[in-house]
Order: sequence, then C-alpha cells, then structure tokens
Amino acid sequence: MENVDYIIVGGGYAGIFFAHQLILNGKSFVIFSEDRKSASQVSAGIVNPVVLKKFTTFWLAKEQIDFLNTTLEEIAGYTGKNYLINENIHRIFHDQKEQELWFAKSDTDELKPFLNTEFKSLGTILNSFGAGSVNLSARLNVEGFFNDFKAFFIENNHLREDRFDYSKISGNTYDDISFKHIVFCEGIAVKHNPFFSEIPVVANKGHHLKVKLSEPLGHQLTLKKKHFLFPLNEEIHYYGGTYDPNERGDEVDEFAKQQLIDGLSEFYPHSYEIKEVNYGFRPTVKDRRPILGTHPEHSNLYVFNGLGARGILNGCYFSKELFEHIEIQKPLMPEVDLKRFTK
Ligand SMILES: Cc1cc2nc3c(=O)[nH]c(=O)nc-3n(C[C@H](O)[C@H](O)[C@H](O)COP(=O)(O)OP(=O)(O)OC[C@H]3O[C@@H](n4cnc5c(N)ncnc54)[C@H](O)[C@@H]3O)c2cc1C
Repeated sequence: MENVDYIIVGGGYAGIFFAHQLILNGKSFVIFSEDRKSASQVSAGIVNPVVLKKFTTFWLAKEQIDFLNTTLEEIAGYTGKNYLINENIHRIFHDQKEQELWFAKSDTDELKPFLNTEFKSLGTILNSFGAGSVNLSARLNVEGFFNDFKAFFIENNHLREDRFDYSKISGNTYDDISFKHIVFCEGIAVKHNPFFSEIPVVANKGHHLKVKLSEPLGHQLTLKKKHFLFPLNEEIHYYGGTYDPNERGDEVDEFAKQQLIDGLSEFYPHSYEIKEVNYGFRPTVKDRRPILGTHPEHSNLYVFNGLGARGILNGCYFSKELFEHIEIQKPLMPEVDLKRFTK
C-alpha cells in the first residue's frame, strides 16, 4: 500500500498548479492523468489582464499576474526553466473609434496599468489604425510546461497515466493507495464524476490552427485581432482560439476552422499553410468564476474546476486558496466557493 497525503485527478492547469502547492509544502501525492490532450494542452498560453473586446479588466487581474510570476519562479527552482515568454499582446485596432476608446480607457484608474498608449504600426500585416500593447501581458510556453512537468512527475514517482476509476474509492483507499484527500481537477470530464457531476460547468469548445506563414513577421509579439497569433517556434505560428458553447462533438468543426481562416486573412494578407487544427473544451461557469470546495458529505473529496477562458491565471491563483482551505481551514472566497451553488 502506498500512503500519500493527496491524490490529484487531472493533469491540466488546475491539477498541475495544485500539485505545485503540494511540492512547495512538502506533501506527498500521486496525480492521475489520462494520456489524452487536455484543454490546457491545446490552450494558447496567453496571460492577459485585459478583456480585449471592450477594453475592460477583471476581478483580481493584477494580483493574479503577480502571483503567477512568483509561482513560475518557484517552479523554475525545480524544473530548471521559467516558462513565461515576456512578449506583450498587441491589439490591432479595427478602426479609429477603437483607438480612441483605448486612449480614453487608458486614462482610468482601472486600466491605466495595462493599456499602453504608444501605438505601433507593424510591418507585414494589415493594421491601418495601428496596434495598442497590453502591459504585463505575456504567454506561457505551453508545450515546455507540460512536457517538463510530466518528466518531473515520472522521475519523482508521482504520475499514474491511467483513468481514475471513481468506483474504486473505498473510505480512505483507492486500489493500492491510501490517501488523506482527493482533489478532482478534471475539467469538463467532471460530468462523469459521481461526487461532483452536478456542478454547473459548461463546455465551451475552442479550436486553433497551427500555420506556416509565407511572409515572416520578424518579431515574437502576440498579435490579437479576433484571435491570437504568435510564434511557437521558427517555423510554426499558433492562431486561435474560437468560442462555441453549443458544440460538443469530438471532431474538428468546419465552421470554427473557417472562422479562423477568415480571422487570420483579415490582417495577414499573404498565403499560409495550415499544418494542424486542434480543439479543446474550456470548463466555463455562468458567473465566470472558478468552482472550489469540499464535497458536502465526503469531507476528504474536493473539486477544483471552472477555470473558463483563463486557465493559467485562475489555476495558478486559486490552487493556493484551495490548498490553504484544506490544510489550515482558511475560508474560501465566497465568489469561488462551491457553496454558492449548493446552499
Ligand atoms: C483553444 C483554447 C485556447 C485557450 N487559450 C487559453 C489561453 O490562452 N490562456 C488561458 O489562460 N486559458 C486558455 N484556455 C482555457 C484553458 O485551456 C482552460 O481554462 C484550462 O485548460 C482548464 O484546465 P483544467 O485543468 O480545469 O482542465 P483540462 O485542461 O481539461 O484538464 C483536465 C484533465 O483531467 C483529465 N481527466 C478527467 N477525468 C479524468 C479521470 N477520471 N482520470 C484521469 N484523468 C482525468 C482530462 O483528461 C484532462 O487531461 C484555452 C482553451 C482552449 C480550448
């Protein structure tokens, strides 16, 4: 029998950032992660304090970014790498009105730290009204992050590359494992979890393209118009992702693919080759807040879900909230507490 403090189910952002809290605090754990691509692994990796449609910000944006920076430094302490790529988002303006709106918003207390007013005119692409850059935005090296964590988990005997079978929980044991706590971080697969299937998480399908551009952009910036465009390596750019709350199918949607082709062609007037089309399902919640908490009847079972479109910031920030809630009974913020749905 293996004795651990924690079992984590799911190896996306929620599971990995929670595992980081355990590593930091010297807790023993195993992590169950099925060998299929999670929403996290198809994500763009964008870290962004601004809602780029109407130029607003969101709850705890600055706190979340500061906390992510600290966390990624801590992670570099044991993986040897910092996965943050410090290239700002450049939002391409559709028209003069948008540029003026950005300018006006940049003068408000809320947006001042984020909206840079030195507009740029970028070569190779169409941007007649220029582009505004978002201070403190960045992107994560998603592939490096997941590959290195997998290697770290294997090396330290944490990883079970299996599907977690809920029917095998018996008191404080699961198969050959004796545990104190189980934290479920399953993304939309929570719908199959008999303990938490009722939580109001809604799948929002997102697609991205991997493309080879015929005309190089000559920089590493993240460009945003409709969707995000940025280099993954010397050859390939990422463009995505779409949003579709109604699609559930396990295949590429031609409509979403076309949306991406149209979106990219709107500002990249040269030819490009589509190398891959991928999709994933964001676990979203109507009130746009994650869901954390303890099962009402099983006090050793917890849920960490609902990260929505901001898996990196939410996963990182709220992993500590949940850890402290479990370990030192720190009350959860009511905005993210599972109890807001179970009262
Ligand atoms: C196209 C796209 C682009 C995105 N871009 C960004 C972005 O730029 N920035 C950002 O912050 N967010 C982005 N997101 C959102 C982000 O990806 C999600 O918020 C995040 O992935 C959710 O993480 P999670 O860990 O909750 O779930 P997931 O990433 O889905 O991970 C859950 C994991 O649990 C596993 N699992 C479930 N049940 C079991 C079981 N019984 N046994 C074993 N394993 C199990 C699943 O297989 C999966 O691997 C994007 C999403 C999409 C789809």
